[in-house]
Amino acid sequence: MGRYRGPACKLCRREGEKLFLKGARCYTSKCSFERRAYPPGDHGRSSQFRRRRESDFARQLRAKQKARRIYGVMERQFRRYYEESLQRRGLTGLNLLQILESRLDNVIYRMGYASSRTQARVLVTHGHFDVNGRRTDVPSMLLSPGDHIAVRDGSRKRVFFKDLRSIATEKSIPDWIGRDVEALSGELVRLPERLEIDGNLNEQLIVEYYSRR
Ligand code: SF4
Repeated sequence: MGRYRGPACKLCRREGEKLFLKGARCYTSKCSFERRAYPPGDHGRSSQFRRRRESDFARQLRAKQKARRIYGVMERQFRRYYEESLQRRGLTGLNLLQILESRLDNVIYRMGYASSRTQARVLVTHGHFDVNGRRTDVPSMLLSPGDHIAVRDGSRKRVFFKDLRSIATEKSIPDWIGRDVEALSGELVRLPERLEIDGNLNEQLIVEYYSRR
């Protein structure tokens, strides 16, 4: 599956808020959004002063793009997730968010084993993780409750993973995830409830975006 390879900070500026795509840097004064909180492009700066009423379509599009960018998913795959969320029982919007949260790269990030989803993605593609005892290099793999993740034996000797225990210990994890920092492993205990997912996402607008076409 492809991924966005352009500048991450531009995406935050486009969405008009910090999406925290770069890990630790996002919490420092080096964050681009702190210095240039206006949309990218030649007219970005002047456009922030222009008052414009957003159409329904614009709001739906922005909600969808923001979610896509936060989870690092390309359009085709995002649409596929939407289609799968329609097949599942329950609320389509919540199903969609649960699918996004159950991606392997996201779960590793939630466990505190990576500083961002992007870093989690790189760690997975480099083959540092086992899922249920089998090596995987597919960051988009969807996990089910009970799935067990662990850093591979061969990777534990690396400096990055040696330091990871103390770094991860300082990070809290959500209730729907289990973690054993000493063993550098964890488990997807259950799918998250809506209140346990980023409240800043508007899944209703995303559903409206896809249902109109
Ligand atoms: Fe966004 Fe992080 Fe870049 Fe700041 S540093 S603009 S939060 S990706």
